[in-house]
Formats: sequence, structure tokens, C-alpha cells
Amino acid sequence: MEKRENNIKSRREFFRKAGRITLAVPLLSIPALLAKKAYSEVYVWQIDPYKCTACGLCKTSCVLTPSAVKCTNAYEMCGYCDFCPGFLRQGARAYDTGAENQLCPVGAIKRKFVEEPYFEYTIDEELCDACGKCVQACSDFGNGSLHLQIMHGLCVNCNQCRIARVCPSDAIKRVPADVPYMSKDLNKSITRKGAAQTKKTES
Ligand code: SF4
Ligand code: SF4
Ligand code: SF4
Repeated sequence: MEKRENNIKSRREFFRKAGRITLAVPLLSIPALLAKKAYSEVYVWQIDPYKCTACGLCKTSCVLTPSAVKCTNAYEMCGYCDFCPGFLRQGARAYDTGAENQLCPVGAIKRKFVEEPYFEYTIDEELCDACGKCVQACSDFGNGSLHLQIMHGLCVNCNQCRIARVCPSDAIKRVPADVPYMSKDLNKSITRKGAAQTKKTES
């Protein structure tokens, strides 16, 4: 009888201690969680365009569909070419806007006539899915002005960016949230309101 009571007492003691530990663990982890949250508010993920090789994984590896990564153009570097290797596919029969002549599979690159023989190329970010085809062609055969950036109106700033885990060039890194873009165009500020908007700064 006495032995049974002792067993009951020690079981109660055990559950009391276990309860205290269960409560203590989440309490101990609160400062770490707060620090993590504060860190993610101060830093965001961005692509270093000078390291990116436009491998295509930005399209398929983001937690969002379509990807939070979009193509953007550095107007300072762009040659405004008549034959833009990012806009027209190699072997295009005509240098026009026919879908069969365009490299972009979703028709996201738009061109506007400036003066003979120059065109300005802009990206429709609603359509761009970050496949990287134009970026690769522009860097192989053009001036390298087309490049990829993580757009912060879309990115949910994951604790560990899923693209950063697989990027073969180690091109994705944390940058200060108040300087969130690494645009190749120093005079271009990328601002995002809601879904998708790119604005060229007037200087
Ligand atoms: S995964 Fe890396 S190399 Fe590939 S497109 Fe994205 S940033 Fe560029
Ligand atoms: S080719 Fe790919 S990366 Fe370039 S604008 Fe079109 S969808 Fe975007
Ligand atoms: S942090 Fe998340 S949402 Fe943003 S680009 Fe990386 S995987 Fe996509």
C-alpha cells in the first residue's frame, strides 16, 4: 500500500516537472524568434546581377508561383539596339514584334521606337516568369543590361530563400531593407506598389 502511494507521488512529481519544462521551452525561444523577426525586417533577399548566370532556377525554385523574381532593364547600359538579342530570337526572320520572332516565351518584353534605329525595351512584370532566357542572351550577345531582381512587392522574405539554397552561383544574398535592389542601372530606382511596378527615376 505504502509502495503504491509512493509511486503515485513520484508520478505526480514527474508530470509537474515535465509541465514546467514544457512551459519553459517556448518562453526560452521567444528572444530567438524576436531576434529572427527583427533581422528579417532589417534585411531582405536580393540577386547580385554580376554573379547571376540566368540558369533558370529563379523561375522554378521560388515558393511563389509565378516567381517573385522578375527581369528588369538597366537603361544606362542598354544599347537600345535594333536587333536586341534579348528581344529577338536568333534566326528571327524579321526584326519585328511578331510572336514567332520574339525570344521571350510569354511576350513580356515590350519595345518602343525611339529614333532610327533605336528602340527602348521594357519588361511587363505581370507576364515575366523569370525564365532568364533574355538575360542570358543579352549577356552573351548584348551589353548585359537585362538582369533579374527579386521584387519586394511580391517576395515574402522567407527566413531562408528557397532560391538561395539552390542557386549555383551563390548570387542571392541578404541586403539592407532600405537599399533592397542591386540594379545594374545606378540612376534607376525600382519601387513597387502592390503587384508590379517599375519606375525610372527622372534625373
Ligand atoms: S538561381 Fe542564381 S544563377 Fe540561377 S537565375 Fe537565380 S540568381 Fe541567377
Ligand atoms: S525571357 Fe524570361 S526572364 Fe526575360 S522577360 Fe521573358 S519571361 Fe522574363
Ligand atoms: S525569399 Fe521566398 S518569396 Fe522571396 S524570392 Fe526567395 S523563395 Fe521567393
